[in-house]
Amino acid sequence: MRYIEPHGHMVSRTTDDYAAMAHAGCVAICEPAFWAGFDRSSADGFADYFRQLTEYEPKRAARFHLRHFCWLCLNPKESEDLGLAKEVLSLIPPLLDKPNVLGVGEIGLNKNSRNELMVLENHIQMAADHGQMILVHTPHLEDKLKGTRLILDALKNHSSIDPSRVIVDHVEEHTAPLVLEAGFWAGITLYPESKTTPNRAIDILELYGHERLWLNSACDWGVSDPLAVPRTALELRRRGYDAAFIDRLLYQNPATFLAQNPKFTLE
Ligand SMILES: [Zn+2]
Repeated sequence: MRYIEPHGHMVSRTTDDYAAMAHAGCVAICEPAFWAGFDRSSADGFADYFRQLTEYEPKRAARFHLRHFCWLCLNPKESEDLGLAKEVLSLIPPLLDKPNVLGVGEIGLNKNSRNELMVLENHIQMAADHGQMILVHTPHLEDKLKGTRLILDALKNHSSIDPSRVIVDHVEEHTAPLVLEAGFWAGITLYPESKTTPNRAIDILELYGHERLWLNSACDWGVSDPLAVPRTALELRRRGYDAAFIDRLLYQNPATFLAQNPKFTLE
């Protein structure tokens, strides 16, 4: 099988993970900017991280014949300090032309605070000003429904944001219909301990359709499984789906969304 990992935090992973993903059929990985497991102490920390995402990580992936793309932003977890946020956001526009940068992400909310909302607005404005696609992080557990509503409202308030160029990730049963009915793409994140298991993800797509949906493993610095996407392919086979359906869901769907940025190619 072939698949795309559309949301993987590879700076947290070893070369063994890259090799395992390549062996499982992965052809490309997209890495949104996110929290590193600790708060960075200055804008310089972000400048280095953006250099890692745009220069170093693509080379590491290429050793395993994997294409590597990324999304840039200040993550919501570190957006409470508005002074730091302003400095970090000013670093991003000059980097948007880098060959592996697909857009602005993963932006969104963590605790749904006033400052997080302000920084979210600034990111959406940046994406609108520069014609960029957007990848959205939605909060977890009890904050998810409220946070998703706030994020969708913020996106809908910008008339120049085209929902078909925005993916809202980490959807669950109660947020998938809100996202899909508003015309956005939706992402389901597969985790061994939290968020959705493969079977729950398949239940969600059976309920709400799979036209504008991708599956990802996140594979970040915490307990996570970089092979969660191919493991879900096996679960899909067990539940009677054929190879053509699995290819559509795990390869063609993310490729269709991502190729709206012409920089995304699989050659
Ligand atoms: Zn993420």
